[in-house]
Amino acid sequence: MIPYGRQLIDDSDIQAVENVLRSDWLTQGPIGPCFETAVAQYCQVPYVTAVSNATAALHLACLALGVQAEDWVWTSPNSFVASANCARYCQARVDFVDIDPDTYNLCPKQLERKLERAQIQGQLPKVVIPVHFSGLPCDMQRIYELSQIYGFSIIEDASHAIGARFTNGAPVGSGHYSDITVFSLHPVKIITSAEGGLATTRQPKLHEKLQRLRSHGVTRDEMQMPETEAPPPWYYEQLELGFNYRLTELQAALGLSQLRRLDAFVAKRADLRALYDKKILAKGLPIRTQTNPSGASSAQHLYVVELMDSTVDRLRVFENMRAHGIGVNVHYIPIHTQPYYRRLGFSFGDYPVAETYYQRVLSLPMHCHLSEADIDETLYALERSIEEAEKHTSIRQKVARA
Ligand SMILES: *Cc1c(COP(=O)(O)O)cnc(C)c1O
Repeated sequence: MIPYGRQLIDDSDIQAVENVLRSDWLTQGPIGPCFETAVAQYCQVPYVTAVSNATAALHLACLALGVQAEDWVWTSPNSFVASANCARYCQARVDFVDIDPDTYNLCPKQLERKLERAQIQGQLPKVVIPVHFSGLPCDMQRIYELSQIYGFSIIEDASHAIGARFTNGAPVGSGHYSDITVFSLHPVKIITSAEGGLATTRQPKLHEKLQRLRSHGVTRDEMQMPETEAPPPWYYEQLELGFNYRLTELQAALGLSQLRRLDAFVAKRADLRALYDKKILAKGLPIRTQTNPSGASSAQHLYVVELMDSTVDRLRVFENMRAHGIGVNVHYIPIHTQPYYRRLGFSFGDYPVAETYYQRVLSLPMHCHLSEADIDETLYALERSIEEAEKHTSIRQKVARA
């Protein structure tokens, strides 16, 4: 089975992790801060906090921005559940903004209309969490402008988008359009530390909060203890309720080693995307893919195809592809349709663009192990699978007419 996503680990990664195992520090050693500094340099941002996973980073980002019970947090329904759950961890109320049917990202026009209505109702969001779906940056310039008008904070869920660039060339994570940017280092993402997450910010106060909340809300920094004079050398203070969301040294070493190849990974993914695009066009397959009107540079986390013939049964195409040994997947089941969110009052039909999109999509394999032969095999299987599903549809229609 060709999987839809897979990490690429080489000898330098293995050596980096082995070196840590032979060192004095398995956690809270020197590599964690080295990794943070390297990410800060890469992203052209002053502050980075490495944490145990992106979900933890999103949770801390919400807390650092003061999200609490009764606040509203808005995100995209076309995302992994963690994009919304982070607000629920803070007892906040979640709402969604439907996606653009071409970019599959949170639609800035829908956001604007929803903000106008929310202002009248006195229910403006405290935080909006745009998700750079598949590594394609959202229209952050517009979302940032709206944040200035309506006074909300922004967390970019860039779990798919380390290595991506905005239209102006600035790296995602540089944070000029948001308060905090979050990356995931899960193995299916662009680079990995097994489990891992990053939060970047330009604001020193937010950075201080993120660092402290990652480790129990505890500080050893005298500057943060105005009431304590001449603290002894063993002294620390817990200033608030934090967590243990630390990244281990083993993970930081793997992340740091992978970061050196990030640009090469993204370039390889862009080549794969170009091959897919070219071959799909040549075959004239009845599908379309994510469009990129802004000319931003995507990290190419996923290669999503949208079946354009609505009579073709996506489940059949999915099963046929799996039978051909192609590990297709579906990104994403709209968050608001999950039982947990329906219990909070959401229904099918609330975000029709995300729901229609979900009915028609498949994620084809996209990762750095793929060869051109794998792409040919995948597209051969896709062509056969769609044909078979079309045949099935026409038989079904004939039976229905008879
Ligand atoms: C993977 C992912 C997350 C969660 O990342 P973890 O590191 O697994 O916690 C959050 N948001 C999106 C959009 C993701 O794809």
